[in-house]
Amino acid sequence: MNANNDLKFKGKGLRKCRICGTSRGVIRSHRLYICRRCFRETAEKIGFNKYG
Ligand SMILES: [Zn+2]
Repeated sequence: MNANNDLKFKGKGLRKCRICGTSRGVIRSHRLYICRRCFRETAEKIGFNKYG
């Protein structure tokens, strides 16, 4: 009867970091969906240095 509890964390509205799973400071622009911390590390790998 209380199946809605789990639905909160599923679906298209998910705003979590794909790498570490945190929901704080997640960057949605550029469809990255990763937090600022992981972004800096990933940015260097993919050559995306427009941030910071
Ligand atoms: Zn992260």
